[in-house]
Amino acid sequence: MNYDNQEFSVKNVKLSLNREFDINLPPNTFCWNRWVIGKSMAFVWRAIEEKIPSATALRNKGMNQIEVTCKTCGAVEESAVHILLRCNFAKRVWEAITKWLRIPMVNIDGNLKELLQEILELHRSRNVRKAIHATVIQTMWILWKTRNEKLFKGKQSVIQTVIEDIKNASFLDVKLRSKYHMISRQEWWDFNVNM
Ligand SMILES: [Zn+2]
Repeated sequence: MNYDNQEFSVKNVKLSLNREFDINLPPNTFCWNRWVIGKSMAFVWRAIEEKIPSATALRNKGMNQIEVTCKTCGAVEESAVHILLRCNFAKRVWEAITKWLRIPMVNIDGNLKELLQEILELHRSRNVRKAIHATVIQTMWILWKTRNEKLFKGKQSVIQTVIEDIKNASFLDVKLRSKYHMISRQEWWDFNVNM
């Protein structure tokens, strides 16, 4: 199965590029962040709409033989919001990430759209907020990749490894894609960023 298959159209991506990161956007507008690789950004955009191939989404498309229970917790049906926010595995990742970023713990009873909106409303400088937003996008993307590696390759997911992957990916993206090229690994790991 090609789980990286991108269903979004070029037209839609262009549309959303016009809505680049701007905190003055009306609430609930999907906010494009150029400090994140487009692939992760587009993934989260689709995840918000439950358009990623979770077990429940596949069953809803007519694949009735699909076992929809989450393979990680075995508790509920596996949807996008479950994998990326509500599952106990995701919860533990979010606890570590929010602690690292020194922001309040995300609301795991909420949804992905609300989570992203809350980030935009944090009382931090615009660019710190943008860096946090970029990291949150990467967190969702890496949670999805982790789920796929477990499901398709049987790879065991270790929280600490996932955290390191998120720190690494967000560091490289922000360093490369923002004007803050001088930021050091240590500053990013401490999230002691002056932006
Ligand atoms: Zn679960």
